[in-house]
Amino acid sequence: MTDQTFDVAIVGAGLVGSSLALALRGSGLSIALIEARVPPPVPPDAGWDQRIYAISPSSANFLAQLDVWADLPAERMARIEAMAIYGDDGSARLDFSAYEAGLAQLAHIVENRVLQAALWHALKMQSGVTLFCPAACAALRIAQDAAYLSLDDGKQIAAKLIVAADGAHSWVREHAAIEARDKDYRQLGVVANFATELAHGGTAYQWFRPDGVLAYLPLPGNRISIVWSLQQDMANVLLQLPVIELCERVAEAGAGRLGKLELITPAAAFPLHLIEPERLIKPRLALIGDAAHQVHPLAGQGVNLGFADARVLAAVLAGRGARDCGDSLLLRRYERARREEILAMQLVTDGLQALFNQAQPVLRWARNTGLGLTNRLTGVKRQLIKQALGRI
Ligand SMILES: Cc1cc2nc3c(=O)[nH]c(=O)nc-3n(C[C@H](O)[C@H](O)[C@H](O)COP(=O)(O)OP(=O)(O)OC[C@H]3O[C@@H](n4cnc5c(N)ncnc54)[C@H](O)[C@@H]3O)c2cc1C
Repeated sequence: MTDQTFDVAIVGAGLVGSSLALALRGSGLSIALIEARVPPPVPPDAGWDQRIYAISPSSANFLAQLDVWADLPAERMARIEAMAIYGDDGSARLDFSAYEAGLAQLAHIVENRVLQAALWHALKMQSGVTLFCPAACAALRIAQDAAYLSLDDGKQIAAKLIVAADGAHSWVREHAAIEARDKDYRQLGVVANFATELAHGGTAYQWFRPDGVLAYLPLPGNRISIVWSLQQDMANVLLQLPVIELCERVAEAGAGRLGKLELITPAAAFPLHLIEPERLIKPRLALIGDAAHQVHPLAGQGVNLGFADARVLAAVLAGRGARDCGDSLLLRRYERARREEILAMQLVTDGLQALFNQAQPVLRWARNTGLGLTNRLTGVKRQLIKQALGRI
């Protein structure tokens, strides 16, 4: 027996699922949002979250439309005004600047818990969404008239459309029998925050090194957040180093660019995968966010892709006319609109990861020459900047 019926049930209130719920305000659709975990409150004296995102200008615009962007505390955000990317021969370098792209900044750095808290605050204050939390899914049945979800607390929900926003190892995707290719990079993304001796000047640095890809991302003041993708065994060695040695190792890997480093948030690590579902939709079901694609973090684009999914799906649903919102033809518009960008990001991140993971001298020469050449070709560089920033 069904307890409640909705037009759309979104499973997962992470960054992407919450943003879709907010984007559907004013669409005339009734929305359920189901989340397994109660997000912990952000303590006022919280240190810097080591989980941070480089939010592209197009994602920032989307969050502004959701009335979330203006609520983010400016003192906890940093702007990326320039990027410097280095190859693994010690000299190849590719530079981007906001100035070249005609922008005030290339991206903003925002902490995960600050962004999550702002989205949840907006959901509670302004959206009229029915929240089921904490509640996880226990069973899913997709029928012709609706999709039926049983929750682990015994509640039964029916919806015309189920949206899977439940992350890379999506329960919904699995129970809807959508196959996904899962390529395990056998790498961990090591994240940590440091105080720096020298000012970063709003520059994000990235080194394609023989042992993995290291990024220094600017935080406010003389602070940075790092993401270092390393083979699992090397990452585990790094994670077990005494603090002083960890600081020295990270400073040395970054060619001493920002002087001495001092750890301000302990290191954490995330396993890295490429997850490619065979499709993004089926009747009465759509995948968004990491449930629809997980990519290597070397381009810092995972959540940006997810926000674009939410924006496009909300627009498709808003333009549904007389159609049922779980209608396959309508959902196909969403899949068509997203497929190309997702595929391109999967190819770029997976390709770069593979290219810099090879020790052969010819490949080493080719990748470093490619970086240097791209740096000199202004038109190509501008196109790359545009792609990296999303459609503004
Ligand atoms: C090291 C690292 C660095 C990164 N850096 C960047 C970056 O700089 N920029 C960027 O754009 N991206 C970055 N990413 C990618 C980004 O973290 C992800 O793309 C993003 O967090 C995905 O958000 P999501 O909402 O789709 O999924 P998730 O954040 O995984 O949220 C899923 C939600 O669903 C809930 N859930 C799961 N199962 C159920 C269930 N059965 N029932 C109910 N609820 C459920 C979970 O509790 C969770 O709240 C990085 C990733 C890594 C690993």
